[in-house]
Amino acid sequence: MYLGISRKSALITAASKGIGRAIAEEFVAEGVKVAICSRNKEHLLKTSDEIKNKFGVEVLWCVCDLSKRKDIENTINVVNKEFDGIDILVNNCGGPPQGNFQDFEEDDWQNAIDQVFLSAITATKLVVPKMMEKEWGRIINITSITVKQPVDDLILSNAIRTGLVGLTKSLSNELGKYNITVNNVAPGYTLTNRVYEIAVSKAKEMNTSHEEILFEIAKSIPMNRLAAPEEIATLVVFLASMKASYITGCTIPVDGGFVKGI
Ligand code: NAD
Repeated sequence: MYLGISRKSALITAASKGIGRAIAEEFVAEGVKVAICSRNKEHLLKTSDEIKNKFGVEVLWCVCDLSKRKDIENTINVVNKEFDGIDILVNNCGGPPQGNFQDFEEDDWQNAIDQVFLSAITATKLVVPKMMEKEWGRIINITSITVKQPVDDLILSNAIRTGLVGLTKSLSNELGKYNITVNNVAPGYTLTNRVYEIAVSKAKEMNTSHEEILFEIAKSIPMNRLAAPEEIATLVVFLASMKASYITGCTIPVDGGFVKGI
């Protein structure tokens, strides 16, 4: 399928690892000019080197802590300057910590709000004016299946991510006339560091192995396995493409059938 985005530019946040990195690679493979950011310079250097070795293409990288407004502003300024605007913004972030209601105090809630919710608002606010000027844009937020079906032990994600769903729908109403689409991709269990770490910590708690925990997770999914990060990334790239020109305001799960509702 001809996706028609080979001369576009994209910023993928929180992209040194996991789902964000897989998205960056899929865009590079489509000939998109890609910028990535995350907190750790060494991880960014390693990722950009590996992408260069694999595709023969440089990605632009910026150190950015998404819970800090100044860092987001700086990143977007650098990318705007280098690429003359950001056509495609993918708002990804680190996942909030696991836990139940009694585990968290107000500061924990504020940190999760800053990282998961406000970071997407700040980045979106900064890229939209140029998209409006160009009358073309794609904003894609990486959320979670927790917005469709709460997951036990993930109360911060369950509660805060749904705000982004409301924002996406409202924003899609406002920006449609500028040919800017706004959508959410909601991954199910995906085999990344985050899930591996969750499995290791659950295994300790339950005095079992992380392999057993991952096996139990897989059993709860109709496809009987976890997703590979690339399986999330392909939907993101499709939503960013010319072919997805009439899809906006949606939250689409990529979950192997995990969500039970219709
Ligand atoms: P991951 O831990 O593998 O990667 C997270 C990335 O975010 C890394 O590059 C890390 O450096 C970066 N990061 C973390 N905190 C940051 C910050 N404050 N500022 C900038 N960068 C930061 O995680 P993942 O599994 O790829 O998950 C990505 C997102 O998708 C998370 O929000 C996660 O909750 C969500 N999600 C993941 C799954 C899953 O099963 N993996 C399922 C649903 C939703």
